[in-house]
Amino acid sequence: MSLSVIPELDQPEFRLAVAQFDQAAKAMHLDPNLHERLKSPQRSLSVSLPVRMDDGNVKVFMGYRVQHDSARGPSKGGIRYHQDVNLGEVAALAMWMTWKTALAGLPFGGAKGGITVHAADLSLGELERLTRRYAAEIFPIIGPDKDIPAPDIGTNAQVMAWLMDTYSQQVGYAVPGVVTGKPLSIGGSLGREEATGRGVVDVTLEALKHLKINLADTSVAIQGFGNVGAHTAHIMSQIGAKVVAISDHIGGIYNPKGLDIPEIIRIHKEEGQRIHTMKFGDKVTNEELLTVNCTVLIPAAVAEQITIKNADRLLCRILTEGANGPTTLEADQILEEKGIFTIPDILANSGGVIVSYFEWVQDVQRFFWKDMDIRDRLKDILASAFQRTLSFSQTQKTNMRMAALINGIDRVAQAHLARGLYP
Ligand code: NAD
Repeated sequence: MSLSVIPELDQPEFRLAVAQFDQAAKAMHLDPNLHERLKSPQRSLSVSLPVRMDDGNVKVFMGYRVQHDSARGPSKGGIRYHQDVNLGEVAALAMWMTWKTALAGLPFGGAKGGITVHAADLSLGELERLTRRYAAEIFPIIGPDKDIPAPDIGTNAQVMAWLMDTYSQQVGYAVPGVVTGKPLSIGGSLGREEATGRGVVDVTLEALKHLKINLADTSVAIQGFGNVGAHTAHIMSQIGAKVVAISDHIGGIYNPKGLDIPEIIRIHKEEGQRIHTMKFGDKVTNEELLTVNCTVLIPAAVAEQITIKNADRLLCRILTEGANGPTTLEADQILEEKGIFTIPDILANSGGVIVSYFEWVQDVQRFFWKDMDIRDRLKDILASAFQRTLSFSQTQKTNMRMAALINGIDRVAQAHLARGLYP
């Protein structure tokens, strides 16, 4: 079978997403017609974005929004600003969102967006103009009942506020439910900022319980110190786990005795100091961080970090995938043989989209919840998704990734079978 009917999708991330899907579809004997349908995204939009730069010249950027599937509800997924963004990567991330929302039981489909840009090179004004032009170009296909963007790599609450404002200006009234991950002042939710990190911690605690490992004996290494990585590190240190290694895209530090995470976060925020220059531990490269001695390894940066080249050298007991697609298919096989317990991305990092769902519900109802309600409901959904995945993997003698994928895909398949094929 061909990769997809859209040749531009032929990129490493999309190949990985489709290979995982093919493997799961085969294992669950998925209806071949549905298999064929779900391999290609429902809708892919590519837009060129002319932006007036501060020096007066116009520069054109490429932007994308891909809706993989919306059989179960409006599609949902983040927007990434990164120099490597391409249509194939965005489509892969959209496909993972479809399985992720279904696995968590949210009434959403999957989508993703992105702009090929190194955001750090732009001034705040340029970033705002780029975001508003992107919002205007994707306006016809987004909306609280159609497709609801959120932050991802390189985007944050401010970017979501510009998207929400541009959309609202077009329709003539405030529409908070068009994006999630926005500031509290315009309908954001308590707990959304740290939700993905909190979810990463919640599922890791479930795995520690399952493997009968004490939290006090647990050491954690985290690659990536952005929204997901920094919040994960902070919450891990708050609950008493020892965070021994952290990094950003330049490099990181390692200290087997544990790092002072609150102080590192303070210095990082207030003084803008890079992780690898901090004096709290020995310097490590991103590659070395993956193979340090630890109980839990958490990739929380970009895709395809654990590959056939380094999988054999991983020393962790648990791999919690904070990032999307951090492990290649070949590496997965090696990790399984080594007995590393993997919590796959579509389960491990679903805390973000779960609290995004809470934000959307609060916006639509115009009724806002307390912080504790959000934490408790997040924990409940994640614990039940984890236990369902674990028990499926045990009864069906398959790994956690396949169990999670099959669960998600099955829910999407049920929706398609119920709705039928139009016309
Ligand atoms: P972010 O932009 O806030 O942070 C990314 C971090 O990764 C930064 O510290 C950056 O320096 C580092 N990084 C970038 N390239 C790297 C490289 N090649 N090697 C090592 N580190 C590198 O992004 P984020 O929102 O924290 O997202 C991180 C990952 O988590 C992505 O895979 C994203 O898709 C996934 N994710 C994010 C959310 C969310 O709510 N933000 C939800 C689910 C999944």
